[in-house]
Amino acid sequence: MPTTSYAIAIGSNRRGRHGAPEREVAAAIRALGGVVAASGIVASAPLGPSIRRFANAAVLIQTRETPPELLARLKRIERDFGRRRGQRWGARVIDLDIVLWSAGSWAEDDLIVPHPAFRTRRFVLDPLLGIAAAWRDPLTNSTVRQLAHRAQAVDRRPRRP
Ligand code: ATP
Ligand code: CA
Ligand code: CA
Repeated sequence: MPTTSYAIAIGSNRRGRHGAPEREVAAAIRALGGVVAASGIVASAPLGPSIRRFANAAVLIQTRETPPELLARLKRIERDFGRRRGQRWGARVIDLDIVLWSAGSWAEDDLIVPHPAFRTRRFVLDPLLGIAAAWRDPLTNSTVRQLAHRAQAVDRRPRRP
């Protein structure tokens, strides 16, 4: 496999052995290797006693791994960071998702690239905007800039009480 680029979304909403969520995200960026660009780490303050703090970032990596090979390595990093099975949507020390691949798309049962949900997620698009604004989504042909601005506009839309 020749070298290709991937955009990876990183999230945490639970303390781990590196510390608070933003520390876990920073440690995951170091663990990934091949990183050619990294966004800042966006941390959201806890809004109440029961609401967890989130930290998110996006990075671009270069690697000769195929998408399934990369996913297997991401899952190993998640396990190494202490993530347990059955934490989908719940609190987890680290979540590593493949968002975009420079060679196009990939679709099998347990791996879909581009990530099916990234087009409307500001916690993915906002960090990605700073490092990959011109990257085109092969499915919609929109750039990350267009998707990010669209998602921001949706959030600004006035709502009726
Ligand atoms: P979401 O996918 O909505 O962000 P999640 O990240 O919380 O949810 P996980 O429990 O981390 O979901 O992942 C469930 C499965 O999704 C993984 O085991 C993996 O096989 C699969 N998957 C499919 N496409 C991707 C992708 N592009 N990147 C990472 N995992 C993916
Ligand atoms: Ca995810
Ligand atoms: Ca995931």
